[in-house]
Amino acid sequence: MATIDPSRFRSTLLSIVRYGFGRTMEQATKVDIFNSVCFAVREHIIDRKIETEKRYADNDVKRMHYISMEFLTGPLLANNLINLGIYDECRTIVNDIGLDFDDLIEFEPDPALGNGGLGRLAACFLDSLASMGMPGFGYGINYDYGLFHQSIIGGYQHERPDFWYNKSSPWLMRMSGEKAMVPVFGRIEDSEDMVGEYNPMWVEWKLIVGRPHDIAVVGYGGKTVNRLRLFSAWASEDFDIQIFNEGDYYRALEDKIRFENISKILYPSDSRDSGKELRLVQEYFLVACAVHDIVSIYLNQHDSFDMFHEKVAIQLNDTHPALTVAELMRVLIDLHFVEWDDAWQITTRTLGYTNHTLMPEALETWPMHIFKKVIPRHLQIIQEIDRRFMSMIKEKYPDDPEKPRRMSIVIDNNGEKNIRMAHLAIVGSHSVNGVAAIHSELVKTRLVPDFYDLWPEKFNNKTNGVTPRRWILRANPLLAQLVCDTIGDGWILDLGRLRELEAHCKETAFLERLLMIKRKNKVRLASIIKETTYIEVDPESIFDIHAKRLHEYKRQLLNAMNIIHIYFQIRDDNIIPSVPRTFIFGGKAAPGYFMAKLVIRFIHGLAEIINKDSKANEWLKVVFIPDYRVSLAEKMIPGADVSEQISTAGMEASGTGNMKFAMNGAITIGTLDGANIEIAGEVGEENIYIFGHKVDEIESLRREHDADRFLNSSPALKRVMDAVRSDIFCPDEPGIFKPLYDSIVHGGDYYCHMADFQSYTDAHSRLANDYMDRHNWAVKSLLNIARTGKFSSDRTIKEYAEEIWKIKSQI
Ligand SMILES: *Cc1c(COP(=O)(O)O)cnc(C)c1O
Repeated sequence: MATIDPSRFRSTLLSIVRYGFGRTMEQATKVDIFNSVCFAVREHIIDRKIETEKRYADNDVKRMHYISMEFLTGPLLANNLINLGIYDECRTIVNDIGLDFDDLIEFEPDPALGNGGLGRLAACFLDSLASMGMPGFGYGINYDYGLFHQSIIGGYQHERPDFWYNKSSPWLMRMSGEKAMVPVFGRIEDSEDMVGEYNPMWVEWKLIVGRPHDIAVVGYGGKTVNRLRLFSAWASEDFDIQIFNEGDYYRALEDKIRFENISKILYPSDSRDSGKELRLVQEYFLVACAVHDIVSIYLNQHDSFDMFHEKVAIQLNDTHPALTVAELMRVLIDLHFVEWDDAWQITTRTLGYTNHTLMPEALETWPMHIFKKVIPRHLQIIQEIDRRFMSMIKEKYPDDPEKPRRMSIVIDNNGEKNIRMAHLAIVGSHSVNGVAAIHSELVKTRLVPDFYDLWPEKFNNKTNGVTPRRWILRANPLLAQLVCDTIGDGWILDLGRLRELEAHCKETAFLERLLMIKRKNKVRLASIIKETTYIEVDPESIFDIHAKRLHEYKRQLLNAMNIIHIYFQIRDDNIIPSVPRTFIFGGKAAPGYFMAKLVIRFIHGLAEIINKDSKANEWLKVVFIPDYRVSLAEKMIPGADVSEQISTAGMEASGTGNMKFAMNGAITIGTLDGANIEIAGEVGEENIYIFGHKVDEIESLRREHDADRFLNSSPALKRVMDAVRSDIFCPDEPGIFKPLYDSIVHGGDYYCHMADFQSYTDAHSRLANDYMDRHNWAVKSLLNIARTGKFSSDRTIKEYAEEIWKIKSQI
């Protein structure tokens, strides 16, 4: 572990304030101070970054490049200090100067360059790679505007832009001289080369310049510092060459601005395909910049492509970067004159693809005419890949004339041709993985069974994980201290060792400490709730938390239905609950997702009525904390008694929120979906509340859906649904919740709220009863902490490294 020289750190800091920002300490603003502290810390990081790169180059190591449209890192100062091992020292020095260290840590804005789980996974992976000393690098886009900020006005979500960059991130280092030139638009001219071979020319393209900005990724222990490279789009300087008059001047500038818009904004939809041309240009821009960079790094040390797949692995985070297949082929063939067959071998041996969803609305398809306009050469290459693939399929399955249509990359939908990005990614990769055991099975059996039949060896599972450095050490210092006091600090890089805590599950004093820590974390969360919503909540009540993106499949509405059920039991049935409960929500809805936004309004409707009802509010409160993001998750998760993981079975690929909650001692109430199944397998069925229909039952449920049967057989459900339809929870805006009622009762209830209602409310009653036995509950909580070591992203990364990437630790 590193140490810092206090007097040197102090003088560096003062000199940055003075000569970097032109101020004395007295004049300096909070932004100046924050940036200066980060710059002073950066010195320690950069020395190690340079040393790491030298070590990799000297050993000519195999490198893995993780291409992702999203990296949801969250604030970096605290984590960098923890991983460098200088958090406490730095805190002392900064406080001694007369500054408030904790306040500075809280001041850092979240770099929100991602929507949710997929982007957060990428950030956890980078932490694990660096912490295990592995040469693994991230490639992404340096969006000017990250995910929007959410505020709530009158119960409705409002979006405000997140111009995080304006505050200038001290973590972002512009790497001058390493730009990527990216051709786009234009057309293909058929021509022949000198020996008469077909030689298509991509002509009249325009150039986008990709400027790299690096964020250092500090591994735990500070030995290895990798990088996340983010590209900003710039128009080429050649934009002014053909300006003859004023009109041309304005047109040239308009073009320039249009190009620079490419890296302006993150698309704010989670698990939904936008289909917008700008999004395709973004995806292509990222891929082209990344491939350019990866190939140049390789060519620094090699002069032919023979060793490429032995020195380079590329992982595609979902299909968003699937164009890598075509771009790598193009670079090899058009720029380096590699033969098609060799280029194809290199490409497929290098690429791996991770699938993140089975939901049809999330599977990317692009109209061919957009491809033709934006990337005509890539379209041509994709068509050739498809032609060769199709002739192989026809030869292999002569008796199944439907195979080609089911498997082709280009699909003709009544005259409109579309590119299926998942098919492109599968054909172009040597590995296809899902992100939890059940999900990987469903990829094989339901999503692409024909591909599994053809290439069973390509398919594998890599159950997601999360980094314990951020999600325990940073987020829950009290728990981390208890664990260190009890079993030492080996667990931080080997989370399986948390099992050693099980030996203490009968010690009352130990369990008391655990309960005390949970209580302190709940008190901290209660004060955040007070500050952000003005609602007072009781830390003695069960903190039941449902925090994640708003989506119908995640069923925040089912949670709301149970709350109404409990409310009516208190108000109308005079049933006094066994224990008071606080239901806490957090999560953003995509700005164009009507139903998700209506659910936010609905939760606020419940809160408005229930929190004011004096007969109920001693027992029941409802809270929605606005602007769910990494820094808020770090405070909510340690304060949870209960974790809501209640997606419709078969729809949550894995989930990672479920893992963060469990390893912080929350008990899960959840369906047999995604990684919940594996969490149940680890913690044991007496330490988790599983309810609801299983994945094989969902399909027939939908087919035989009969709303009246559910309503007539359950008075409790009928009462709840009548309330959804009525104006009880929206007295001032009658009728607004009707679409929620209609989607469930008249719309086929695709997400099976009614079918799972009874078992969900039953599971909640069991849970509330069990909570009263404080000793027993503490044991459950401890066993969740002790038995969720499997869900460290270190374990996940080891599996990827050994089975797909073939990269090794360099420490
Ligand atoms: C972990 C995390 C997610 C993913 O949560 P799920 O419950 O797996 O959907 C989303 N957003 C943030 C800020 C997170 O930290």
